[in-house]
Amino acid sequence: MQKNRTNIVLLGSTGSIGRQTLDIIRDNPDKFLITGLAAGNNVDLLREQVKEFKPRFIYALKKMKAPPGTNIISMEDMASHVDTDIVIAATTGKAGLSPVLSAIKAGKRIAIANKEVLVMAGEIIMSEAKKQHAQILPVDSEHSAIWQCVQGEDTEISRIILTASGGPFYRNTKSTLKQISVEQSLKHPTWKMGKKVTIDSATLMNKGLEKIEAHWLFDVPYRKIEVIIHTSSIVHSMVQFIDGSIKSQMSYPDMRLPIQYALSYPHRFPSKLPQLDLTQISPLTFEAVDYGKFPCLSLAITAGEEGGTQPAVLCAADEIAVQLFLEKRIGFTDIAKIVQGTLEKNTNKSSPSLQEILEADRWARETAMKIYKKSSFKYKRK
Ligand code: MG
Repeated sequence: MQKNRTNIVLLGSTGSIGRQTLDIIRDNPDKFLITGLAAGNNVDLLREQVKEFKPRFIYALKKMKAPPGTNIISMEDMASHVDTDIVIAATTGKAGLSPVLSAIKAGKRIAIANKEVLVMAGEIIMSEAKKQHAQILPVDSEHSAIWQCVQGEDTEISRIILTASGGPFYRNTKSTLKQISVEQSLKHPTWKMGKKVTIDSATLMNKGLEKIEAHWLFDVPYRKIEVIIHTSSIVHSMVQFIDGSIKSQMSYPDMRLPIQYALSYPHRFPSKLPQLDLTQISPLTFEAVDYGKFPCLSLAITAGEEGGTQPAVLCAADEIAVQLFLEKRIGFTDIAKIVQGTLEKNTNKSSPSLQEILEADRWARETAMKIYKKSSFKYKRK
């Protein structure tokens, strides 16, 4: 049988990145075929997606009956299935870790949107991918920008300039950050994203995670990755080369563009997205980061530089702290305190195995909760 469409397994299909991936696939039915969809608890949306895209394989964390024509199999099995061409890891937290490793072992092409996978286990993921000749493609807008900038270049990168919008509170003073509400935090000025990443963008934790992600994806030391504030999110990141030349990638902030590039790579195809009109946008500005105002960024960078199990501990503690904030059990600035407290208690271990990373994750969740329960910053919000 002549195969002319790329077979796609989409893990995390009901989340923000998952739904935007399906937008791209819906617009290109001649190029892509969904063969597997996996979701967490939103089985109603998954059922709708199954009706529309008719995948052979499905998986949901929540128990469900297999809709007609589908088989329920594990995410690992669909990711490594012989017919799978591309796996899109749009899961969140550590959920993507094991299926991504299965896809790597099967030598697949993997588009990673689930940043914790690289943050927690970057060393294992990248070395396994090299061994198995599996391609790891970035989906995060900054990493897609960096990746697009390095196409056709064969010299060393002298600097990665990772742009950050600064989130909704970049202009706030340090003292007013304490009073920030959940509702204010969920209003990102330039990007529409899921709740966890929106809060991480407001604390700048997200940019720290992205620095760790960039370190692994592009094999560039941390000292050569600089974060700068660019509030309008038009330049998605830049790369400087040894001759001093800087390349950037620009577009309106819309995740569908980096998703499409990961699917079309090494080619490009037309997009229905609004095209950037440079004469209609406000001037592009760039400024240094105020690290003192956003401790989560420094915590993440230090955890990345320390390596070992620290990045996994960082991710786990942050997940707990952000959840506590979303539940209005702690304040905005307490997120960093819980993360810092947990990192300080960890006995680090270099080059950890997957088992040790998962154990560090479990330990960190428990420890972050203990810190919360013992702490004086528990309070009830209206
Ligand atoms: Mg990003």
